[in-house]
Amino acid sequence: MVPEQSWEETWDVIVVGAGYAGLVAAIAAHDIGARVVVLEKMPDPGGISICSAGGLRIADDADVALAYLQATNAGTTPDAVLRALAEGMVRLPVQIETLAQVNGAVVGRRLSPGNYPFPGHDRLGFVYVDDIPGFEPAQAYPQVRGSPAGARLFKVLEDNVRVRGVPVRVSTPVRRLIAASDRRVRGVLAEMPGGMVRLHARRGVVLACGGFEGAPTVQRQFWPAHPVLPAAFRGNTGDGLRMAQALGADLWHMWHFHGSYGFRHPDPAYPFGIRTKRVPDWLPGHGPPPDVKLPWILLDQHGRRFMNEYDPYLQDTGARPFDRYDPERQAHRSLPAWLVADDIGRRLYPFGRPTWHERGIGYEWSADNSAEIAYGLLRIADSVEALAAGLQVAPAVLAETLAHWNHACDAGHDPVYARPPTSMLPIRTPPYVYAEIWPVVSNTQGGPVHDAQQRILDVDGHPIPRLYAAGELGSAFGHLYLSGGNLAECFIGGTLAGRNAGAAR
Ligand SMILES: Cc1cc2nc3c(=O)[nH]c(=O)nc-3n(C[C@H](O)[C@H](O)[C@H](O)COP(=O)(O)OP(=O)(O)OC[C@H]3O[C@@H](n4cnc5c(N)ncnc54)[C@H](O)[C@@H]3O)c2cc1C
Repeated sequence: MVPEQSWEETWDVIVVGAGYAGLVAAIAAHDIGARVVVLEKMPDPGGISICSAGGLRIADDADVALAYLQATNAGTTPDAVLRALAEGMVRLPVQIETLAQVNGAVVGRRLSPGNYPFPGHDRLGFVYVDDIPGFEPAQAYPQVRGSPAGARLFKVLEDNVRVRGVPVRVSTPVRRLIAASDRRVRGVLAEMPGGMVRLHARRGVVLACGGFEGAPTVQRQFWPAHPVLPAAFRGNTGDGLRMAQALGADLWHMWHFHGSYGFRHPDPAYPFGIRTKRVPDWLPGHGPPPDVKLPWILLDQHGRRFMNEYDPYLQDTGARPFDRYDPERQAHRSLPAWLVADDIGRRLYPFGRPTWHERGIGYEWSADNSAEIAYGLLRIADSVEALAAGLQVAPAVLAETLAHWNHACDAGHDPVYARPPTSMLPIRTPPYVYAEIWPVVSNTQGGPVHDAQQRILDVDGHPIPRLYAAGELGSAFGHLYLSGGNLAECFIGGTLAGRNAGAAR
């Protein structure tokens, strides 16, 4: 047992991490009467959350939502956990509307099917913060480039935390949990500007400190492909995994991340993968809107296509084909892959769409891709032979790949990877454009196992007393992702974690 007098500070609930999940947990704990503090490692709050697209998944019927979640998780998550999520999805619109009252934010609901045609997919939707009077995301958060809707959602939470007087301490990484000999969590050891400080949590600790997008060494142990570039934020380095593991936590879903593919900036000082332009998701069996073109194909290290470049939900499964290992070459077959387009395709729209949350970092992609060509992020080849030389593949193989592709475009049918026909454009008009392509992680799903009350479980399935998880640290998604599901989890799991921690005795 840690002696009481050794604490520098005492709180009821300590929340680790100031993204959506952490702030929601703090609000929930405060609202049942707990004294709460939020500790944030980075100089600014917001984590990945602040640059998200801001869409939260909602449902009109918990049983229907549960059926969808069961199918999308394929037995990787207990029904009790999924039911808590499904029920929360029904309550979520009212929860957001209530929080929005703090600053007059305008909340909008839209019907939008789930990403896959599982039972219940047509009964799901999104809720967004559509407007906040007088609020300009780019001015309020100059260190962030993402979607304004994500920033607005964060502003709603920030204002709710502020009016409640809950302190959010930035540049304060939590280094470890402090527990009694029976593993009952008693507090945290945090690094503050003046040194290490021991903070006592009388009721509980909520770990809302994100996943491991910024931890290549952790990724290396769980993911087949390496490197996988982070899309926006370097603060999530798996700290919550290690802290929970130190108390015996079990882990789940470590292989699963939300990610697609994108560019690596040639300047090593730019740390983020740049995801390709976000094209609309589409429901299998229906296809994308007919006017949406994707002007590139992706080639492996042999100069052959290896995937459908426009999967139904590219941000979910788009990174998976990069896992394939080539035992003959003792290397991954598509690491890096090559994006190839022609001059007509190059002029359609910006190929890259950078996002970031970090002070002093930023990159604006040019409207016609010309700046990227000028300094070599995109490269140019005047002929198929020159393209083969640039890709370092056999010219005959490349010529065959392009001939097959152009024939498929003319026929309106991709017999190998089933690219949506309306998205296909031939690649015939030089100069050709090409670039290295890598898998990109938006956010991870893996982490400590939790139950329906967000209590972190040990390897025998027992709750570790007074320790809770919220947000993407140990997400419920372990098979296919549901767009908007992570934000829904931040709010639903954050509320449960905050309330349960605040009520613990
Ligand atoms: C570009 C982009 C768009 C997205 N759009 C959507 C969307 O529209 N809908 C959706 O559902 N999902 C979306 N996602 C995913 C979603 O944003 C995240 O899963 C979610 O925001 C995670 O929230 P969080 O609070 O768990 O983590 P974060 O917001 O990342 O917060 C974790 C915080 O913990 C801090 N931290 C880490 N370690 C410590 C430590 N040791 N001590 C103290 N603090 C620590 C971090 O610095 C960070 O601020 C998107 C992701 C990206 C990258």
